[in-house]
Amino acid sequence: MRNINLAAIHPTVKTVRFLAERWCKCYFCQRGLQTYCERYSWFMGIDKDGFFAETVAMHRASLIPVPDGVSDLEAAVIEPIALAVRVFDLLKPAVCDWVTVIGQGPIGLLITQVAKLKGCRVVAADMWSNRLDLARKFGADEIVNVQGEKLDRKVGEITKHGSDIVVEASGSVSAVQQTPRLVRKAGKVALLGEFEGRVDFGRAGDALFFATYLSPIEYPTAVKLVAEKLVDVKSLVTHRFRISDFENALRTASNLNEKPVKVIVTA
Ligand SMILES: [Zn+2]
Repeated sequence: MRNINLAAIHPTVKTVRFLAERWCKCYFCQRGLQTYCERYSWFMGIDKDGFFAETVAMHRASLIPVPDGVSDLEAAVIEPIALAVRVFDLLKPAVCDWVTVIGQGPIGLLITQVAKLKGCRVVAADMWSNRLDLARKFGADEIVNVQGEKLDRKVGEITKHGSDIVVEASGSVSAVQQTPRLVRKAGKVALLGEFEGRVDFGRAGDALFFATYLSPIEYPTAVKLVAEKLVDVKSLVTHRFRISDFENALRTASNLNEKPVKVIVTA
């Protein structure tokens, strides 16, 4: 387990917080897998309310200090960056590997950015042109608009042997089912957005599949990436709301016709 000494946090120091309530010594937490904690199997903002409160009392072990150069807006997007870091720590890509990222929402766009940091080549797929424009801005080598093109055919043309790595970040069952037709033999598939569906593994000889959706432990690395301007968070933010208008913020975030990417609520 990564040991972080937070005893010296001053009350006025800006922090971000883990989604998990606290650290514990259960089987999974000791192995750095706080997402699967046996004692505190809930997450703030997902299983418990509290993310839209103006003040929240938190155990200090859940807090990570944020340096002065990181804005509040950037600090609000630490969690999906941490997830992207975790995914590539698990995938262990080689330089120049092809990474196909299905879905260019906030998580997919951060996956695209971290893939480029890892020296990979990226095929970015989505059905919304504004999101594909951002993917290109973040360095995606190939763009596929799945409204007009068949992703498996395009990935085959681009990569020749199939994508070394496929990351599903669209939240779509059909995308999950498509992954065996995109990954090369003995490649790797990460499922982040959706875990349902019937997958024909017969088409994915020797490929490795894994599913993950949260990362409580890579926050310090994520903070560092933002502080050193290695990932662009500001370009993801398409809408901002005051906390008094948070219901409107939630409506906007789920209304794709308003072309939201990241919707931020501020005090
Ligand atoms: Zn635990």
